[in-house]
Amino acid sequence: MPKLNENYLKLKDNYLFAEIAHRTAAYLQQHPDQTLIRLGIGDVTRPLCKCAVDALHESADEMADAKTFKGYGPEQGYAKTREAISAYYKRNGVEVDAADIFISDGAKSDTGNFTDLFAHDNVILIPDPVYPVYVDSNLMCGNTVTYISGNAENDFLPMPDETVHADIIYLCSPNNPTGACYNRQQLKVWVDYALKENAVILFDSAYEAFISDPELPRSIYAIEGAKRCAVEFCSLSKTAGFTGTRCGYTVVPRELIFDTSDGRKLSLHDMWNRRQSTKYNGTSYLVQNAAAAIFSEEGIRECQENLEYYKNNARVIAETLTELKIPFFGGVHSPYIWFQCPGGMDSWTCFDYLLNQIQVVGTPGAGFGENGNHYFRLTSFGTYEATVEAMRRFKQLFHVQ
Ligand SMILES: *Cc1c(COP(=O)(O)O)cnc(C)c1O
Repeated sequence: MPKLNENYLKLKDNYLFAEIAHRTAAYLQQHPDQTLIRLGIGDVTRPLCKCAVDALHESADEMADAKTFKGYGPEQGYAKTREAISAYYKRNGVEVDAADIFISDGAKSDTGNFTDLFAHDNVILIPDPVYPVYVDSNLMCGNTVTYISGNAENDFLPMPDETVHADIIYLCSPNNPTGACYNRQQLKVWVDYALKENAVILFDSAYEAFISDPELPRSIYAIEGAKRCAVEFCSLSKTAGFTGTRCGYTVVPRELIFDTSDGRKLSLHDMWNRRQSTKYNGTSYLVQNAAAAIFSEEGIRECQENLEYYKNNARVIAETLTELKIPFFGGVHSPYIWFQCPGGMDSWTCFDYLLNQIQVVGTPGAGFGENGNHYFRLTSFGTYEATVEAMRRFKQLFHVQ
């Protein structure tokens, strides 16, 4: 009989979206004539931009011809795609060498798989609330996690406790679910702390493309010293609507060298390269060509149109909550609006209340950590019309007395 990885028993049931679907279906069964507005799931709705679709068609034709057919590609990704991403960094004022970029099938796999490179007795800091993948992937391999608290007092941007040591630090900015975004000074404090502690920062910048203020860093490498302490995970999922097409990239700078227990040097870049070469066979040729097209001037411009569409929805939600005097975070450099549940409701009570009263479905904050228990996440990934209608219903329900 196999001995099982019983660390899986430590995971909480992944019931968030299942429970949302269950409660929503039960409501619809009882009220078949009602129309729901879904502002819950963090999935995009706008189609792929023309550049990406053209590249997919062209690549499919190449695959149909023996002269241009492609088999296995490099595990790290094609040079063309890596160079396009390096140029995209440069456009945003950051130098990242194409050789440090690994193309993946998305940031979820890479953030989850990165635990492969570390031992199991590290001090690991993870924000609460945050994208649940970091906590779960660490629990799955038997690691212990220390939560760093994001709350209204720190604008959901936890900062290091200089008196406490850490080995591995997860940061997500702009944050899912809160939409909070670190500024340059704050990220500098994290980088300096990591360098002092000889720690590594695992920085998830899946939402960098939503940042519109040029003063806010879109990459951790905008901070001096970050290449000596940080790995960056990025994704085309939200940037370019690739949630179903699948492509991400991870930057592992060759400067990231740490000591082994017997005093030898190990490079995280070499370890990740070895890991990927062993367990990953590369992102599809078609998808990598589409990704390269996304980072062309034309591709960036086309993607920006979709991002503006979502940002406009976020603005509609933010303006309504402001008018209703409901405290919230995010909604500016992020597709997410994170509001405090009115009247002291907990997040599941708020879910039921919105579903029953105005047929709006969102995401209870409890699904992202303890600190989300009295918060609620709305997304701007719906249509403009649905967003406006949801906010009309909000105004009816929570009208200012
Ligand atoms: C959506 C999201 C990702 C992207 O995941 P993919 O696997 O690339 O689709 C990564 N991190 C966070 C915080 C996200 O919300």
